[in-house]
Amino acid sequence: MYDIIIVGGGPAGLTASIYALRAKKSVLLIERYAPGGQVAQTGKIENYPGFKSIDGMDLASLMFDQATSLGLETVFSDVLDYDLLGKIKKVKTYDGEFEAKTVILALGAVARQLDVENEKKFIGRGVSYCATCDGNFFKNKDVAVVGGGNTSFEDCLYLSDIVNKIYLIHRRDEFRGDRHTLEKLYKLEQEDKIEFILNSTVKALNGKDKLESIVVENKLNKTNREIVVDGLFVAIGRRPDTSLLQDRLNLDENGYIITDENMKTNIDGVYAIGDVRKKRLRQIVTACSDGALASVDIIDYIAKNF
Ligand code: NAP
Repeated sequence: MYDIIIVGGGPAGLTASIYALRAKKSVLLIERYAPGGQVAQTGKIENYPGFKSIDGMDLASLMFDQATSLGLETVFSDVLDYDLLGKIKKVKTYDGEFEAKTVILALGAVARQLDVENEKKFIGRGVSYCATCDGNFFKNKDVAVVGGGNTSFEDCLYLSDIVNKIYLIHRRDEFRGDRHTLEKLYKLEQEDKIEFILNSTVKALNGKDKLESIVVENKLNKTNREIVVDGLFVAIGRRPDTSLLQDRLNLDENGYIITDENMKTNIDGVYAIGDVRKKRLRQIVTACSDGALASVDIIDYIAKNF
């Protein structure tokens, strides 16, 4: 039996593991894909202190190496079910069932879909939710990016070195992403690398076996424009994947887990950290902070209860 099972290997989960392992707790990390979570899919990160600019994958690898060097055990598997109510917590995965005194849920969030006809049909055939994963399939092609937050900005910057032209489609005329990165996009606009299509939404995805064009509606004048593109990168935010937990944990109206200031959920010994938690700011620094706070509280909890 472990002291802590952490589900999710993004910056929140890895920081929690580093704090717990340094306090000599045994920790099992369960991760579905590769360590790093959303960070590993981000091109450049320029707001994590200590690094003026660092590749997301490199930062994720550094965090994972640090945790592994301290003795982190990792199982790469999907969670099938949780049994969290008893004093001993159980997490069932494709690779067996694991037990621990405490569980930290660092589940992150999954990409939101546009919910436009043909979107699912064209996933992997033009439609993507991860520019750093799939960008290379679109060398010298024209692509569209949908969204107005930092992910859409990062996607445009990453794709600008690969593709011929980018159409950035946003439903408003004001962006949510940070100004510093937007300035870089304005420079690309001057080079005709990027075209901003504002106050607009994607209405249709056309193509036979793969995406061939999109139809974009301007919400102000209600006109439609067909744009020929090979790729559509959807970057319209993320949602928590807490479906397995909804009967057991207190969630907000959007499915985010509600915790106290020490990251404790409504169940003793169960904590939630990072993007899956109801919070104001979802960034790497706040994810790391959540992880540290959870582990410090857990160390006390284990000392008092076991
Ligand atoms: P986000 O900040 O929530 O932005 C989502 C964008 O998608 C918004 O502009 C939103 O429009 C638009 N949108 C939402 N639903 C839509 C729909 N159905 N159709 C069309 N557009 C839609 O999400 P994000 O960009 O993924 O960022 C998530 C968090 O990660 C943020 O805190 C962000 O700062 C952070 N992040 C940071 C970095 C970095 O610092 N390097 C990189 C990536 C992400 P409205 O603006 O109109 O709501």
